[in-house]
Amino acid sequence: MIYNSTRDRSVRLTSTEAILKGLSDEGGLFVPEEIPAFKKSLSELSRLDYRELAFEVMYPYLDDFTEAELKACIANAYGDNFDTAEIAPLTYADGVYYLELYHGPTIAFKDMALQILPHLMTTAAEKNNVKNDIVILTATSGDTGKAAMAGFADVPHTRIMVFFPHGGVSDVQRLQMVTQPGGNVSVVSVDGNFDDCQSGVKRIFGDTDFKKELEAKGCQFSSANSINIGRLVPQIVYYVYAYCNLLKNEKIREGDSIDICVPTGNFGNILAAYLAKKMGLPVNRLICASNKNNVLTDFFKSGTYDRNRDFHLTMSPSMDILISSNLERLIYFISGCDDRATSGFMSSLSSKGSYTITEEMKKGLSDFMAGYATEEETASEIRRVYDDTGYIIDTHTGVASAVYRALSDDAGSCPAVIASTASPYKFARSIVEAVSPDITADDRSDMDMIDELEKLTDMPEPKAVSDIKKAEIRHNMHIPADKMKEAVREFLL
Ligand SMILES: *Cc1c(COP(=O)(O)O)cnc(C)c1O
Repeated sequence: MIYNSTRDRSVRLTSTEAILKGLSDEGGLFVPEEIPAFKKSLSELSRLDYRELAFEVMYPYLDDFTEAELKACIANAYGDNFDTAEIAPLTYADGVYYLELYHGPTIAFKDMALQILPHLMTTAAEKNNVKNDIVILTATSGDTGKAAMAGFADVPHTRIMVFFPHGGVSDVQRLQMVTQPGGNVSVVSVDGNFDDCQSGVKRIFGDTDFKKELEAKGCQFSSANSINIGRLVPQIVYYVYAYCNLLKNEKIREGDSIDICVPTGNFGNILAAYLAKKMGLPVNRLICASNKNNVLTDFFKSGTYDRNRDFHLTMSPSMDILISSNLERLIYFISGCDDRATSGFMSSLSSKGSYTITEEMKKGLSDFMAGYATEEETASEIRRVYDDTGYIIDTHTGVASAVYRALSDDAGSCPAVIASTASPYKFARSIVEAVSPDITADDRSDMDMIDELEKLTDMPEPKAVSDIKKAEIRHNMHIPADKMKEAVREFLL
């Protein structure tokens, strides 16, 4: 399998090279030259456990690993570190299936990819004779940072630095990050929002002089953000797994279509669902759900991506994003893999903050539906699901659930899978306020709200939460957005 850059098709890398590099030199993202089809039938795939299925789905994309190497990476990633052997269980509640992607160590779906990425990356480094230390720079809207550190902490020959928006993450998210142990980790809060953090990281990646300076010190950069193909590929697996689960349990027959609805921020998770569909998974509609930061909803409706709008902090902070990086990959695919056109759109995005795709390209959007939910709609959906079934969904999943309900009249009668991306315990305050408005939360701590949540549900408090209650604070660096490069230099030297 060859990987090209979305901004330069003449770039041709193997998967291990693409994983190590993260982002292409001219700023493009790596994309597989072709999308492989499943080699086995869906009913054969439905007899596999998560790890076996992960191998079947991932190997065609990562074929410069040996079979044994990839199997070892998978075995290390999807084991006891998850609190269920199913890894990604499907829960039926009120007419839809919630695909619970939060059973990993940091209780958000980022673990699904970030538990395996460090193994892929260190294996890739060995295979390519890399002697440098790999330095992971990560911008986070709250969940990636912790999940990346949990994956990379104390992994030999790696260092990881995480930037998060000051005041832009939940208390539990912040505490999870600033208590992170490990001799090779650093966590910094930045005055700015997620887009500022992400743009800062991309600028550092594009800084050739700085790269040379690091090279001289025996370091090279890579990325743990969803721009890394090593994150995208593992995310395809659970959509196939969800389908196979429905098939195995005779909820559908082989070939029946399902709808998939994904709470979207950087467009990584839903892009993985799109790739699953292109590999042959029978998916009727991919529903892209946004919160009040609804730049994607407008894009799917009009073909114009326009980030010139107010940025809103919401109760689903991991979706508070106005520049969805992975959309670039979709743009590339629907342009017929036109690197020049894709570069053009992306430079228009960085100079003017907007671009409009062609009429021809708009046809490529027909796989998708899009919608958004306001804060009130999200809260009332969380409450409705709880009142009707006793099942508690988190605020991000609440957005997706609300959007699916609003669109389901048009979505037809397919069974629907909703990606459930975080444990409600990660956002306890918003959840408690949503399901029991009579509890006054204002002057009470987030830890109190966790205790209240525990009373409302039979889902026990996850270990990730009890751990931070007693953990010591290890990181307190706070910088302006234009000082990120200096912070990296200080960390590495
Ligand atoms: C990251 C995240 C999302 C958004 O996923 P993208 O791949 O960025 O679209 C949604 N929900 C939660 C809980 C997340 O952590």
